[in-house]
Amino acid sequence: MTVLIKNGRIVTATDDYTADIVIDGERIHTIGRDIPAAGHAEVHDARGLLVLPGGVDVHTHLDWDFGVARTADTFGTGTKAAAFGGTTTLVDFCNQDGRAPQAALEDWHSRAASACIDVAAHLILTKVSEQVLIDMASLIRRDGVSTFKLFMAYPGVLMVDDATIFKALRVARDNGGMICMHAENGPVIQVLIEEAIAAGHTAPKYHETTRPSLLEGEATQRAITLSELAEAPLYIVHLSAAEALAAVTAARDRGVPVHAETCPHYLFLTKEEYERPGFESAKFVMTPPLRDRHHQSMLWRGLSTNDLQVVSTDHCPFCFNEQPLGMKYSKQQGVNNFNKIPNGAPGIETRLPLVYDGGVRANRISLNRFVQLTATTPAKLFGLFPKKGTIAVGSDADIVLFDPNEQWTIRAAAHHSRVDYSLFEGRSVTGRVKKVFLRGGLIVEGDRWLGREGGGNYVPRGQAGRA
Ligand SMILES: [Zn+2]
Repeated sequence: MTVLIKNGRIVTATDDYTADIVIDGERIHTIGRDIPAAGHAEVHDARGLLVLPGGVDVHTHLDWDFGVARTADTFGTGTKAAAFGGTTTLVDFCNQDGRAPQAALEDWHSRAASACIDVAAHLILTKVSEQVLIDMASLIRRDGVSTFKLFMAYPGVLMVDDATIFKALRVARDNGGMICMHAENGPVIQVLIEEAIAAGHTAPKYHETTRPSLLEGEATQRAITLSELAEAPLYIVHLSAAEALAAVTAARDRGVPVHAETCPHYLFLTKEEYERPGFESAKFVMTPPLRDRHHQSMLWRGLSTNDLQVVSTDHCPFCFNEQPLGMKYSKQQGVNNFNKIPNGAPGIETRLPLVYDGGVRANRISLNRFVQLTATTPAKLFGLFPKKGTIAVGSDADIVLFDPNEQWTIRAAAHHSRVDYSLFEGRSVTGRVKKVFLRGGLIVEGDRWLGREGGGNYVPRGQAGRA
């Protein structure tokens, strides 16, 4: 049973050419010119379309418990939304939440069983005993969990101290793993939050004023210093601040293996969103918060100079309204106190069109760079390449047919996520996902859903930290 994709413009991180692709089973079998259409089970004409490797999104929180809140997407709904956005592989966050790592991972696997696209797991470490440090080696080698996330923020909930970070960095280094860091100075942020609330500053906009960019810069520099001393690779998640980027850039110039991602909301939105009336601005309460234009232009610069290597979504969706999912899934928990608003925002379905429209079409990045940022480099850094992240003979046939000229408007009502709003509501973009293949199977065709819950595979990952 073979599938032929004809006449498409194949774009990878390095190449750009017109050719035909033959998929045999789950993998790409042949790439060539003028391949006859006869004898294939399916033939797809990709004339006028870009043929891209399926997107790899390495930062999502599906069916994720965060204190008393839970994210609004299950793996079934979240991965379906991802597929409509041209993403075929996720690396999602499994939270240790104080448990033995294996128990946390088993829980994650049971939730992830409904995934419609391929999924892998990072493990968030919240309680790092000597036994957990020992367990990290087998998680990397046996379970394919080669990255671990640590938090320098959220004291008492997720935060770990510098000694723990240093120890974990060394264990990761010795076993082909990598530490992913949420870099903000949590204890100082806590002081600012308490002062704000004592002063009666409870509106959502105070989420931004209590998480200044300086504290992201400080924590990023501290994480880099620890990784430099440990001689271990480091990945800064959701980098939003110019100060943090400056620290990453300086470290990379010294040859320190530091990598960093940013997210579409930091590239396209600013803190002006917090001036929206009433509770509306709670939609934009994610961590780190939106920054001003100065930071945004530095992020675009970082993407073009390769000081930022990945654009991921940090899809951490909480509904704006209480109904129909309930208060547990809603931003309304913080209606009287910004510190109780669940931190996080949706974005899993709009990453490719936004970065294409605002990056490639706006002449900020090349088409090859677009593929690099959204598929190839995340696949390489997180141990998924060359199975994922490129179009090559032998790679999984995860393929997106993308119309570079179709103009459309982002609307939450048309999304496939369970979340009830979009950060980009009403934004017109050019460039749209038309067809998506997951390991050779067509799962999205225009508005039609052809995939199925449970159709995704768990993908054990190899060595992390090498791009
Ligand atoms: Zn996150």
